[in-house]
Amino acid sequence: FSKRHGRNHFTLYQDVADEIDNQLLKTELLLKNALQKEELFLAYQPQIDISDYSVYGVEALLRWENEEIGLVPPSHFIPIAEDSGLIIEIGKWVIETACRQLADWKDLRVRDVKMSVNVSTYQFYHIDFIPHLQETIRTTGIDPSQLVLEITESIASNAGTVIDQLKKLKEMKVKVSIDDFGTGYSSLKYLKDFPIDHLKIDKSFVQEIGEDEKSEDIVSSIITLARNLGFQTIAEGAETEQHIQFLKNQKCDLVQGYYFSKPLYSKTFKCWLSNWNI
Ligand code: C2E
Ligand code: MG
Ligand code: MG
Ligand code: MG
Repeated sequence: FSKRHGRNHFTLYQDVADEIDNQLLKTELLLKNALQKEELFLAYQPQIDISDYSVYGVEALLRWENEEIGLVPPSHFIPIAEDSGLIIEIGKWVIETACRQLADWKDLRVRDVKMSVNVSTYQFYHIDFIPHLQETIRTTGIDPSQLVLEITESIASNAGTVIDQLKKLKEMKVKVSIDDFGTGYSSLKYLKDFPIDHLKIDKSFVQEIGEDEKSEDIVSSIITLARNLGFQTIAEGAETEQHIQFLKNQKCDLVQGYYFSKPLYSKTFKCWLSNWNI
């Protein structure tokens, strides 16, 4: 009996596992066609200089809307894109679209607006990454110092190559930000050696400001650490007046979050900007 029972048990889990596999496979197939079918677009979330409330720039956030499965969150499809290798093609599209948008924004009220783009680790180490970036900067005619690449701490897993790659970006005048700082396997050694520009404090800490003293201590320590090392800090996920006041008091440089704006369609961003009084 127990054997049969065990077997049934196994079968049940196997069915669930198969079902999950099928769903992943289906999403992957739909994602494969997303580029050709123009189902991908970028949303832009403003980043504010907290010292004078001027607009520093935006972060480009990838969106996928499929007629069958609806609006899929990036937390769901980016991992699938990474596992399937599709992230290379998608990542190129993101960089091209963001740079084209930046070029289109030449006449914006804000001069020198920065465009932050998320880059997956796998994409960062792909042989084509730098050449494609150079080509895109050339063809769109953007000023590379207006482009910020957001990479995560996991990039440091390839300690040998990462510095070479970062040095090339520095030579190209492209800026680099460490995203979700404090949530990965951080090593302070790489902060010493890496030529980067910003540290981006993860929203899990920012959102506990006013609620958890330890998170507040972590936020102020990251700001101090960054300042001492010569990096600008940017806090993500700021939603309340209290978050803003704390970040301002701690002299965080830049803030991004629903408090100022959600990620916006390109046209809506222009409207938002014209209502921004600075
Ligand atoms: P991320 O780079 O850390 O982006 C910040 C996320 O926080 C975004 O989620 C943004 O919408 C959200 N956010 C911003 N302010 C607030 C706030 O005040 N409250 C809350 N609750 N959330 C806020 P989103 O757009 O869902 O993106 C999730 C993640 O997907 C990104 O995290 C990034 O890791 C990844 N991602 C997005 N676009 C791309 C892309 O083009 N390429 C790659 N490789 N990854 C991307
Ligand atoms: Mg980011
Ligand atoms: Mg982030
Ligand atoms: Mg984050």
